[in-house]
Amino acid sequence: MRIPTSAGILLYRFRDGRLEVLLGHPGGPFFGRKDLGNWSIPKGQRGPDNEDLEATARREFQEETGHPVPAGPLLDLGSIRQRGGKIVYAWAAEGDLDPAKATSNMIEFPWPPFTGRVKRFPEIDRVGWFGPEDARQRIKEAQIPFIERLETALGRSGQPGAFEGGPAVRLPSSDGQRGLVANRFKAVAFDIGGVLIDWNPRHLYRKIFGPDEVAMERFLTEVCTPEWNARLDAGRSFADAVAELIREHPSQADAIEAYRSRWDEMLGEAFEETVGILRELRRAHVPVYALSNWSAETYAVTRSRFPFLDELDGALISGDIGVGKPEPAIFREFLDRFGLVAESTVFIDDSSANVAVARSLGIEAIQFRSAGQVRRDLISRGFPLASHPPGS
Ligand SMILES: [Mg+2]
Repeated sequence: MRIPTSAGILLYRFRDGRLEVLLGHPGGPFFGRKDLGNWSIPKGQRGPDNEDLEATARREFQEETGHPVPAGPLLDLGSIRQRGGKIVYAWAAEGDLDPAKATSNMIEFPWPPFTGRVKRFPEIDRVGWFGPEDARQRIKEAQIPFIERLETALGRSGQPGAFEGGPAVRLPSSDGQRGLVANRFKAVAFDIGGVLIDWNPRHLYRKIFGPDEVAMERFLTEVCTPEWNARLDAGRSFADAVAELIREHPSQADAIEAYRSRWDEMLGEAFEETVGILRELRRAHVPVYALSNWSAETYAVTRSRFPFLDELDGALISGDIGVGKPEPAIFREFLDRFGLVAESTVFIDDSSANVAVARSLGIEAIQFRSAGQVRRDLISRGFPLASHPPGS
């Protein structure tokens, strides 16, 4: 006996960082009032000649929703057996779909009974987005494992920051195939100063002020202040900024001038352990970016000192756009420029203000305290990193 086989697509999306799945409600005379336990993933019978099951799933999704499966990788959710014996294969796809714009193909059904007449009904009379708990109540019981496997694959997801996902996992599939499941998080962006590179004006000014730390600190809080530096990061020219400051503080002219002429001496070493994480991510084909407050005038010399900056998939520095963190605009520009989605982007910064704003925009932000902590935080978000730095 040939076992009836069907295949479908579980579409999912994140709303405010929470997972939602798209289910369809069957049309026809019997299901109008039946709600709980009757919804289904869009799916249907395998076509003739042993149609490729993924092709079945894609075709049925299109027929029942009126929309093609969104582009992007499919997660193999394996198969389940329904009560009547039918085996259902499913794949998950990330994407959005407006339920008001979904349209289903029609099916013919003898109705009303015993009249000999046939009536046409939509195969799916409505679709809806549901959180995992709600979806479990509505979906046919036999299909519940699809939702649970999706959650396992993505990590049990609550609010951004409350994510408890494990590493990407392989899911069982009863036809013997196994699929590597993609991670919910797709890209990692690093702050530079204090995360990848030990940039600190004190590396320079200890040489200038010698043992007088108090004088140096006063200079850095009253003359060349962090706010003054932030304007350089936001695109103000060093020449203008230095000239103006010397007019205000003529007795400190030499030290102020050094901010420009000896700027490169503020560059300490790279934080090799963090750079190691960045390289491990790249080897695993995770796109990595820099998102940093940095002057456009000094970024070139920084890159020449730290060639790993040229290994990045992209970098956005404040000096290029005239806006620095923690302004929301630079985060938005960053996501836009590299085609990233906030909810699937991890951002690492040592500044709590930057982390807070990133989170408010839906970005999964991690505050940097140590490379070891960042490594653990990335592993817990599903990234394929070794648990300890290689060679340690
Ligand atoms: Mg920083």
